[in-house]
Amino acid sequence: TQAHLDAIDAAGALNAYVLVTPEKALAGAKSADERLAAGNAGPLEGIPVGVKDLFATDGVRTTACSRILESFVPSYESTVTSQLWRDGAVMLGKLNNDEFAMGSSNETSFFGPVVNPWRRGGSDAKLTPGGSSGGSSAAVAAGLCLGATATDTGGSIRQPAAFTGTVGMKPTYGRCSRWGTVAFASSLDQAGPITRTVRDCAILLRSMAGFDPKDSTSVERDVPDYEAAVGRSIRGLRIGIPKEYRLEGLSPEIDALWQKGVDWLRDAGAEAVEVSLPHTSYALAAYYIVAPAEASSNLARYDGVRYGLRVPGRDIAELYENTRAAGFGREVKRRILIGTYVLSAGYYDAYYVKAQKVRTLIRQDFENVYASGVDAILTPATPTPAFGIGEMANASPIEMYLNDVFTVTVNMAGLPGLAVPAGLGAQGLPLGLQLIGRPFDEETLLAAGEVIE
Ligand code: GLN
Repeated sequence: TQAHLDAIDAAGALNAYVLVTPEKALAGAKSADERLAAGNAGPLEGIPVGVKDLFATDGVRTTACSRILESFVPSYESTVTSQLWRDGAVMLGKLNNDEFAMGSSNETSFFGPVVNPWRRGGSDAKLTPGGSSGGSSAAVAAGLCLGATATDTGGSIRQPAAFTGTVGMKPTYGRCSRWGTVAFASSLDQAGPITRTVRDCAILLRSMAGFDPKDSTSVERDVPDYEAAVGRSIRGLRIGIPKEYRLEGLSPEIDALWQKGVDWLRDAGAEAVEVSLPHTSYALAAYYIVAPAEASSNLARYDGVRYGLRVPGRDIAELYENTRAAGFGREVKRRILIGTYVLSAGYYDAYYVKAQKVRTLIRQDFENVYASGVDAILTPATPTPAFGIGEMANASPIEMYLNDVFTVTVNMAGLPGLAVPAGLGAQGLPLGLQLIGRPFDEETLLAAGEVIE
């Protein structure tokens, strides 16, 4: 724990942590030592982890990296983090993310961007670690924690993992409790780990997962011993390669990586089959209706009365307006406007209901592929390697949204998805592959992911 605290100090320029909690960490490490000495250690005893600032931590400031929650100190602990502490893990601090987890580059954070510890060969340009869990991915990649919690609504675990050469699992919807996690889009949000290896991912996931009566969408189902799946043979596994993911203009580097992934899985005894997910091209458009709709509803609670920031006004309506104008950043406001628009009378059927229908079709595409005997699907995790901080500043928001083209389908269908590092591209930057599984079959992803990493 002390070594990690020192490393965090030395790496302040990465801006990965928005709050370091050294006293808490060292006290936790001391109790861990005592439990280890007494022989009653938990499965994560003494393991130092970082926590995305979207998870409520009892007595420790939790902001979702928004000005509107700048001074919010919860009096409760999220279920996911409380399970980590139950198993002996030690919290080092809170990790940076895009404001309310809206973004793909960690540049929408109120606390400023996170710097990816990776550099393009021969260049000093600072790169993003992806987003929204950019603090989590950068911290794991730079050795500023042994693992981190993260959340994924449309790719926010898998894309930052791919950009930093780390492992990220978005579990099946309902596998990890959402209780105590700041809500973005409740029907899509899921917590999961970012780690250095697939084995670490399995170990952390086991502690994070499980039924929670406080989350009505949490699923009552035993948590398997995920670590036992790591190293399991994948002989005879049928891996689907969806032809619709071979996008026009896909970079040759990403295409070649994908083919290598197929070869590695084949060499380990799996069979690759081409499959079709015909509604793939509608996923991104439908996601950017459903997610903002739910966000606009979830963010209505930040009114200057119940939480965090309050900017007074002449009357209550003006207080709401002033608080929300000052408290939310540009991207969050854009999402609220889109969400309010697609939910309003007259547009609801044309946009929101239509997007929900598309969502059903996307889920059915996956169901059909799995019903045909396919065990998991292999795709690239992202269309490009990490890009530069500020590089997208003048691009349209849609260009940023295109980062999520391979990841949003998984959230729309509620499936598990694993991003694993698959080597370095031409610029010397890490590239990731994604494995998509059947509902609640994270184990197959871990087994196949270990073959790739
Ligand atoms: N980049 C996507 C968005 O901005 C996904 C974010 C996430 O998964 N939290 O909505």
